[in-house]
Amino acid sequence: MSAILLDGVQRAAEIRDDLRREMSRAPLAGAKVRLASLAVGANVAGAIYARHQAKACADLGIELIPHVLPEGVEEEEVVRCIQDLNVDPAVTGILLQRPFPPGINARRLQAKVHPDRDVEGMNPANLGLIVYGEPRLAPCTALAAIDLGRRAGVPYRGRDVVVVGSSEIVGKPIAFLLLNEFATVNVCHVETRDLASHTRDADFLFVAVGRPGLITGDMVKPGAVVIDIGVNRLTPAEGEPERTVGDVDAASVREVAGHLTPVPGGVGPVTVAMLLRNTLRIAKKGSGYFSERGSGTVSPERETEPDPEK
Ligand code: NAP
Repeated sequence: MSAILLDGVQRAAEIRDDLRREMSRAPLAGAKVRLASLAVGANVAGAIYARHQAKACADLGIELIPHVLPEGVEEEEVVRCIQDLNVDPAVTGILLQRPFPPGINARRLQAKVHPDRDVEGMNPANLGLIVYGEPRLAPCTALAAIDLGRRAGVPYRGRDVVVVGSSEIVGKPIAFLLLNEFATVNVCHVETRDLASHTRDADFLFVAVGRPGLITGDMVKPGAVVIDIGVNRLTPAEGEPERTVGDVDAASVREVAGHLTPVPGGVGPVTVAMLLRNTLRIAKKGSGYFSERGSGTVSPERETEPDPEK
């Protein structure tokens, strides 16, 4: 068997086409949509992702406004910048460019982004809504991975899903989002004993660890849908170009799986498309796009943390 490749470049183009149509219709036609991007220092590791974001925004007519604070800036200064962006009426959404330099607590910063401007879906209020089964703005990579899995044409409902990796940005949101779709979800992590005994049961296998070759063909159920989220840059041999691979050993898994996402060209491009989709969702909020029910948020004028009772 040779797995069908789930092409993320093509899927991202389809999503962008849909979004372009949305941009041309009320209530978005003529609206100024602005995404504020906040980075600290040169951020070499995130540069490629940032370039893709800039290109995708420009293509859709979304204005990306970069804010770059100098390396060595105090965390409180970054927080102040986020608070200013939270109340700036010209800003639709706020994007934090990871990774931050050592000494800056990315998790704390994400909690400072107002939940209604949280394009990355990483504020605790938005993550909490996923657990409540009322997702509003969800993390882009989790949305992208689930969307690509759906392209296999098999419903998630009732299927056995195994998620390898339990980070709050990828693994956990995938698990909760798919629980909401009535999949049976098993989450594996660094302490999981006998990983293969779990992965072999998966109808859908999501892998987000950051270890090349972690999943090999003998760990995959025949016909499974395998979504490789890992991004690993291999040190090239002399004279060779740098190579990016996922967490899945594509050569052996391709022979067993029914569907597989390539790396590069799989989850990555769809993640950028989901970022644009979240941005337009926020832009449409003025027309009542978001349900008030369970939103658990405060108005952008206030700088207090969301009240979990509301
Ligand atoms: P992370 O925060 O480092 O989390 C990695 C997870 O893998 C943790 O839950 C860890 O378990 C688990 N783990 C570590 N070793 C393991 C092992 N041997 N077996 C099973 N689980 C193991 O990383 P992340 O941010 O989730 O990112 C994961 C990968 O996805 C990275 O390669 C990253 O570059 C990629 N990524 C891609 C995109 C995209 O758009 N394509 C976006 C984000 C991330 P513990 O929690 O127990 O330590």
